[in-house]
Amino acid sequence: MAKKIVSDLNVRGKKVLIRVDFNVPMKNGVITDDTRIRAALPTIEYVINNGGKAIVFSHLGRVKEEADLVKNDITPVAKRLEELINKPVKFVNQTRGAELEAAAANLGEGEILMFQNTRFEDLDGKKESKNNAELGAYWASLGEVFVNDAFGTAHRAAASNVGIAANVSETAAGFLLEKEIKYIGGAVDTPVRPYIAILGGAKVSDKIGVIEALLEKADKILIGGAMMFTFFKAQGINVGASKCEEDKLDLAKELLAKGAGKLVLPVDTVCAKEFADNPGVVKAITELEADDMGLDIGPKSLEVFAEVLAGAKTVVWNGPMGVFEMKNYAAGTIGVCELLANLEGANTIIGGGDSAAAAESLGYADKVSHISTGGGASLEYLEGKTLPGIACVDEI
Ligand code: ADP
Ligand code: MG
Repeated sequence: MAKKIVSDLNVRGKKVLIRVDFNVPMKNGVITDDTRIRAALPTIEYVINNGGKAIVFSHLGRVKEEADLVKNDITPVAKRLEELINKPVKFVNQTRGAELEAAAANLGEGEILMFQNTRFEDLDGKKESKNNAELGAYWASLGEVFVNDAFGTAHRAAASNVGIAANVSETAAGFLLEKEIKYIGGAVDTPVRPYIAILGGAKVSDKIGVIEALLEKADKILIGGAMMFTFFKAQGINVGASKCEEDKLDLAKELLAKGAGKLVLPVDTVCAKEFADNPGVVKAITELEADDMGLDIGPKSLEVFAEVLAGAKTVVWNGPMGVFEMKNYAAGTIGVCELLANLEGANTIIGGGDSAAAAESLGYADKVSHISTGGGASLEYLEGKTLPGIACVDEI
């Protein structure tokens, strides 16, 4: 079941609708991180370098009221695209209308057109986000073929992905989406074993679906982050003042029973008496005092993790091991980055908003096989769910 890729299309002379994920962080109209724009360049460049006419569009933020139209104006993104791709980008400040239609119709081979934030259509009955049929058909009418390169929104059916796909003759994945399918899809469908999952982050409740799916599929699951304390408390261990979900103890018990032999928990934690970036104290998990807050996994836990990871051929990681935003509690997360970077011949995949950001900010972007560009989408994909934004892409 291979998906059609943009390079399988004959784009010459064709108007190619390209859905990208340019949902970049902005402060007062200034882009603070343009990684997502850079990540989409290969697909856009492929289209224009092969004589296609690129019609590029994305959502930006959420649009609920008039004020959001100003806040989420995508004009600065079009400007940044122009700088990065080093070619003129014709920008149309509307999501539908005569100007957009004329600009699309008059686009030349190798030219780029970008239009306004697709979610401007949400102001009137959430047309984009609820996949309004008329809107998808309208956007499809502006081009001839459709390329989806927006993984971050692939878990939601919108007019700008499945709506368009339903109304064009050919749909392909962009190179970025292709990479997500190859790595995350590969881990879900045909993992090379041993297959080890590492889960951390804030809450068990955010990750129930993933834990359950991985209990079926992975050979071992390493647990870190705040979620470990819910598992410890479920076993009657005193977790002190650590972050813990009291209402998920029964669930944690169930998962522990189901995952007997598969779930591997830390043996020590770096803890503190207050939530501040001061050096912590390493304690065995069973030795926390009432006012101890576990904020990272400890060095012995990393040794345990290293043993489990030795020889792994597929590793999927979601959720930081500790409060990595504070340098005194980043060692566990850095340690796991190191372990992944040093695994030979393994597919190492990081999915999840904060874990991806952690690996990138800590300098491990080039040392793992794949860092996913989608937080929620990568979680749902790992759960084994069908993502509408991938399902709508033609098979070869
Ligand atoms: P992701 O976005 O990768 O799925 P989450 O959103 O689930 O990850 O969790 C990330 C957050 O979890 C981070 O902000 C981090 O500070 C927090 N966190 C991790 N470990 C702990 C801990 N022991 N105590 C409190 N917060 C933690
Ligand atoms: Mg997160």
